[in-house]
Amino acid sequence: MLEGKIAVVTGASRGIGRAVALKLAEDGALVIVNYNGSKEKALEVKEEIGKKGGKAEAYRCDVSDFSACEAFIAEIIKEHGRLDILVNNAGITRDGLLMKMSEEDFDKVLATNLKGAFNTLRFASRQMLKQRNGRVINMASVVGVAGNAGQANYAASKAGIIGLTKSAAREMASRGITVNAVAPGFIETDMTEVLSDKVKETSVSQIPLGRFGKAEDVAAAVSFLASEEAGYITGQVLHVDGGMAM
Ligand code: NAP
Repeated sequence: MLEGKIAVVTGASRGIGRAVALKLAEDGALVIVNYNGSKEKALEVKEEIGKKGGKAEAYRCDVSDFSACEAFIAEIIKEHGRLDILVNNAGITRDGLLMKMSEEDFDKVLATNLKGAFNTLRFASRQMLKQRNGRVINMASVVGVAGNAGQANYAASKAGIIGLTKSAAREMASRGITVNAVAPGFIETDMTEVLSDKVKETSVSQIPLGRFGKAEDVAAAVSFLASEEAGYITGQVLHVDGGMAM
């Protein structure tokens, strides 16, 4: 399905990004497994893809660093001559109530989650426009739509992702490039593992399907949006949240 395609997945060393990398490789793409701090884990993802007969490379890049992203994308294009799929998945949380939130915690989350997506897309878009072909999938969140107490920085970054997605979709549509966002709800990863049992219980009670999602649930949505079949869908936010936001 994605044979011959080059896919970059940011933050693919763990969680949702890891599942997306495995899925896109299973679909036939050569996957660039991006990581920042978790080199061992990224190499494990690369190895796992290889064992399943897929193709992958691991590449360190801090997505919040503009010039590092320029070098990262340039290296991929130099190596492979193209870039077909960009999944901006890398993300962090630094939760706290607004009145107590430090400037650093606000800036760090925005720099990684929102500017990180801009940084890679800024350089990947030129190549995709030249190719007249491309798929961009940005990881938003249900809280970017609904807000969440204690996550002003994170929710702002994810709401920003939605605006970035829609603007990029409008800019790039005339060349056949689609740009969409996926908005997960509560997904079982390291990011949600840190929540207390009480918060997890309350959260589940707000999910119509009655459970946290799995990273694979999100990967399936990304795989669809990356496919040829999704060529007439752009500027959309696909919720993968068990029905939390309807
Ligand atoms: P996770 O398990 O904490 O993994 C985060 C990933 O992002 C790791 O691979 C990490 O890489 C990478 N990352 C962090 N900072 C980075 C940076 N500066 N440069 C490059 N990579 C960086 O998180 P997750 O739950 O899978 O979440 C993935 C995405 O889905 C995030 O955008 C998150 O906001 C979104 N999301 C998650 C949920 C959920 O319930 N889990 C819900 C809604 C949205 P290293 O470890 O190598 O640094």
